[in-house]
Amino acid sequence: MDNLGLIKAIYKIQKEIEDNEEFLSSLDNKIGDGDHGYNMKRGFDFAIKEIEDKKPNSIHQTLVLIGKTLISKVGGASGPLYGMAFTKGSQNLKNAIKLDYENLAIFLKDASVGIQLIGKAALGDKTMIDIWVPLAKDLKNKVDKKTLIDNLKKYKDNTRNLLALKGRASFLKERSIGTLDPGAVSSEIILKNLIEAL
Ligand code: ADP
Ligand code: MG
Repeated sequence: MDNLGLIKAIYKIQKEIEDNEEFLSSLDNKIGDGDHGYNMKRGFDFAIKEIEDKKPNSIHQTLVLIGKTLISKVGGASGPLYGMAFTKGSQNLKNAIKLDYENLAIFLKDASVGIQLIGKAALGDKTMIDIWVPLAKDLKNKVDKKTLIDNLKKYKDNTRNLLALKGRASFLKERSIGTLDPGAVSSEIILKNLIEAL
């Protein structure tokens, strides 16, 4: 996808987040404070507004604008974490004309590092990291698009039976087991739309 294709994918993400706002908050209600749907909707509504106002004209500018918007407009932990994902994820795409498979692999690798830099979560801690890190590895291994989308669902489903070791859900200890990680669900929405737009 070119920059216009990326912007179209962001519109799709915003719509899907909106459609899943209640679901995301209901998951967060079980193992957190119930605001994840609200946070994500607010973040992507503002991202669209900023894109329409500032009209970024490259892949890099668009990704950075989304990252900065998520950092400044989303109150929860997820704002700075996703913000880092987009800003760090774009750092090696300054001259990218297309967000193709190879560039998405670069984005995911750098974004995962960014999320871990501030969140300090490891694999298996029941966070969005359980989606971003294995998917980054899949792209590095040139896994085909359809399998990537199937794997995303698997990675998300796998968070259900994990015990949370980071974020608010970790306060619940064993009681965090049995519920999907809300950030894993929002990550699936974001990454699935980026893969489908390739
Ligand atoms: P808050 O927890 O501040 O209410 P949200 O509800 O918006 O923020 O986001 C919760 C999500 O953030 C979790 O489901 C998890 O995926 C993610 N998260 C929380 N802490 C971390 C962390 N340290 N590293 C990575 N992801 C995290
Ligand atoms: Mg929350």
